[in-house]
Amino acid sequence: MIQRQWALGGDELAGFQLVEITHLDEYEGTGYLFRHIETNMEVFQLINSDRERFFSYVFRTLPNNDCGIAHILEHSVLAGSQRYPVRDPFMTLLKGSTNTFMNAMTYPDKTLYPGASPLKKDFENLFHVYTDAVFAPLLREETFWQEGVRLVCEEESCHFEGVVYNEMLGDSADHDSIVGKGSIRSLFPDSPYSFESGGNPEQIVRLDYQQFRSFYSQFYHPPSNCKLFLFGDMEVGGEYLSFLDGGEYLKTRGSLKVNSLCPTSEPWKKERSVTLTSPMEEGQTKESASIVLSWATTDVTDPPLQVITLSTLVDLLLGNQAAPPLYKALLDSELGIDISPESGMSADFRQMPFLVGFKGGINPDLAEEAKTCILKALQEIVKEGLEPEMVASSLKRIRFKQLEIPGGVPNGLRALNRSLRGWLYDLSPCATIESGGKPLEALENALHKDPRYFEKWIKRHLLDNPHRCLVTVKPDGEHQKRQTDAIARYATQLTESLDKKEIKVLKDQNQRFLQFEMEGDTPPEALATIPRLHLEDLPSTIRPNTHQEVQCAGQPLFIRPPQFCNQIVYADFAFNVEDFSERELLLFPLYTRMLQTTGLGKLTYAQVATRLKHLTGDFNVYGELGSSCNNNDVLTLLCRVKTLREDFEPAMEFIQQLLSGANVGGDLKQLKLVLNNFRTDFADSVTYSAHSFASLCAASVFSPIQWEGGEQLSGLHQWFFLESIEEKDLPAIAQELEQLQRKLSNRRRLQLHLSCDEELVHEYVPVYEAFTKAFYDLGEIQMSPPRSYKEVSKGTIHEVQLYRLPATVSYAAWAMRTEKRGGTVLQAAQILLANILTGNDLWEVIRGGQGGAYGVAANADVMEEICVFSTYRDPPRIAGTYRDFIQILNRYAQIDIDPGGHIENALIATIGSELRPLSPSQDSILAFRRLLYHISDEFRAMRRQHLLQLDSKQLNEGAKALLRAAKEEDSYVVLSGGAQLLETEKEKHPILDRPSVRLPL
Ligand SMILES: [Zn+2]
Repeated sequence: MIQRQWALGGDELAGFQLVEITHLDEYEGTGYLFRHIETNMEVFQLINSDRERFFSYVFRTLPNNDCGIAHILEHSVLAGSQRYPVRDPFMTLLKGSTNTFMNAMTYPDKTLYPGASPLKKDFENLFHVYTDAVFAPLLREETFWQEGVRLVCEEESCHFEGVVYNEMLGDSADHDSIVGKGSIRSLFPDSPYSFESGGNPEQIVRLDYQQFRSFYSQFYHPPSNCKLFLFGDMEVGGEYLSFLDGGEYLKTRGSLKVNSLCPTSEPWKKERSVTLTSPMEEGQTKESASIVLSWATTDVTDPPLQVITLSTLVDLLLGNQAAPPLYKALLDSELGIDISPESGMSADFRQMPFLVGFKGGINPDLAEEAKTCILKALQEIVKEGLEPEMVASSLKRIRFKQLEIPGGVPNGLRALNRSLRGWLYDLSPCATIESGGKPLEALENALHKDPRYFEKWIKRHLLDNPHRCLVTVKPDGEHQKRQTDAIARYATQLTESLDKKEIKVLKDQNQRFLQFEMEGDTPPEALATIPRLHLEDLPSTIRPNTHQEVQCAGQPLFIRPPQFCNQIVYADFAFNVEDFSERELLLFPLYTRMLQTTGLGKLTYAQVATRLKHLTGDFNVYGELGSSCNNNDVLTLLCRVKTLREDFEPAMEFIQQLLSGANVGGDLKQLKLVLNNFRTDFADSVTYSAHSFASLCAASVFSPIQWEGGEQLSGLHQWFFLESIEEKDLPAIAQELEQLQRKLSNRRRLQLHLSCDEELVHEYVPVYEAFTKAFYDLGEIQMSPPRSYKEVSKGTIHEVQLYRLPATVSYAAWAMRTEKRGGTVLQAAQILLANILTGNDLWEVIRGGQGGAYGVAANADVMEEICVFSTYRDPPRIAGTYRDFIQILNRYAQIDIDPGGHIENALIATIGSELRPLSPSQDSILAFRRLLYHISDEFRAMRRQHLLQLDSKQLNEGAKALLRAAKEEDSYVVLSGGAQLLETEKEKHPILDRPSVRLPL
């Protein structure tokens, strides 16, 4: 609940007046709104205990043409400022920072400059550089030419170049982007939304430097136009306000009234229609069109109700249901092949647009039919009413989505996006910031008062709303040519109109730009102005992994100390399968897939899926094998469940039934279908991530667990196994899957983990207890059987495997053992070395050098004690890459490595990645894995200490040890295009002289 207090008269802090204090339950914090007395700039601080501090500068930037000025400014602001006169401060900042987010984004009516970091000092560094960038950018003419656009004249002709110009050339050729942006722009012809904020290439070329500068002075002036959003663990007001007020930033500016509030469009009295074209791509015909109906619906600033109403409706009509009614009606009409991927809603505009329509297989002349079909479907839905069960299920999903703290991006960024829905249009930042309780409550109340709330909304805001536009986008062979011609015509017109003097100016400009490009990197003195972290800023201690352990029907349950999970329960549990045979493990992937796509008792698969969707936010099962710190192999079947608090009990009951009774063997037709889908997925994933398959395969010769857990469970050999299954084998396999299920359903195998809000723990232990008891007690599990796979003997392995792919590139992986994980600094040196090589020499030699691979990396695995070098999409070059790997390692066995450069940067990156705050779901599984693999706090602390002590000599020793290990045993695996290539490469290196295996693609 929001309790609003107004600070009457206002407390003053560093030139700012405190105008509003709001308690925000959902964020476990308080919001403070400040206004700068002299300039009126607004600063909103949402203070809570989130360690991932976040800031964002927000400017309302309203375009009044299609030149993309706001977009070019967004690129140019971060290209050097008064205090930090560095070419690319962004890249320099990245190297010495543990930031978790750093970006700049242009929207149709605003530009954002956000940054986040879990370390206070780092956060301040980012904040200082960004503040100087937005308030005191150099905005050099050369930067405008580079980031925006410039005319380049060669012998015969002139053409345009520039980063944003090129970016938008790509964007303006994308069919779906034309559909999405075109529909929205057509809806608001009388507002800045009618312009292309990113820029239309035909217009970008008309922009000049003066217009660019004057847009900056108009829209980046702080008074009414700049807002600052601060989030996380910090003091009220604190150093940020005094930094702003104390420096030159706000003092010298005075107040200037900028009219930057995006107006609401005049409502239409009659619907309209437009036709646009898109480039005709290969294989496309006139019928590859899109026909979309778009609406201007309600106002985004209506805090509790409208956004959640429309997003729930999108889910109901088009989304997650087994058969969403609008989606189904459109497909059943057979007017088009599919629904346009642009269908849905957006809350990034003052009035929320809603789009729906067809894509593909539709004749552009059928626009009227398409419209009638959409409207008729909506009329039908209003007449028949939405099924109450569907509504309940959608509400539940929305509730889950709104409540879960999802991770991925900083919490501050999500809060900012919500608050801007009101703040951008001059409401309080707190007016729209809530996502969970209050909006949901408002929606539930509305539905309670009127069960036909959604139907009435559809009638009023869609069916009876004439503010809608029928948009047809048809592929046109001439589209691209028209654009190219227009731009070329303009270039000619421009150059022909130049007199001698102007031609000289243009030549001088080109010369100046070349000079600017050649100078390249900024001098070291300038680079040194960018603040950075040093080793002493990194925490030397680790976050402890603590749990409370209780017994649950005789099995261990680990309870994560209470943390804020916002009403979501995370239950992870593992079945110990160390007594399973190699054959049984090989069947695991098929088993877990069947388990999640089959019926249960009388319930069909569709019914099971609906029930799972209703009860859980997610349910996932997979086999996982690895080495533990105790030097034991850990073999488990891991299950992950997350639910709303009220669903935990029924969800666990249902999942228990599924795990012990799902129809994994009884339905041969389903088994065949699952197997075929699985094969297709495998073929797809081999094509997309061939380097991971090469790496798994290369590592698999070093230990049974790598063989069984990597290669057999998820590598090429699992795929070969699936491909080898014939139709006649299916009945026997079905039986094996059933046996597997019976063997697994033993409570003695279980280890349980629970993460939830504090007050819920005592309720859930009994639920877990009942869950565990529902499995049979089949006695202690037997000791592991001897593995059929032979342990490799030291000093004899030099394995080379070649596989052929239908591709013109290759993917290689070279693996060797690292030092042992416990006790020595040497393995830490190898871990860090892999990081340094990835960021420097591997990149420069193999990617930038003669090879030109798309990607290349070295990875050292602490637990498995294996280091793998791998390439991604290497052009036809196999022997050379292998030699490069060895040469680079040799180099690092000798050279002096700069402690303040490479070593410090790599440590900041390595330790920084461990500081990244985790979502409750990520935290839960990581904490559980540490228990399963016996990774103790002492071990982690020792590793951190080892890393922080490293010097150049130790890295040399690490490299030498890797070379020695590779001499004793190494493994090289290549997935490569064509037999021809392998034939020529084997001339270049004897190890490649061996037969290759064609992959079943
Ligand atoms: Zn851009």
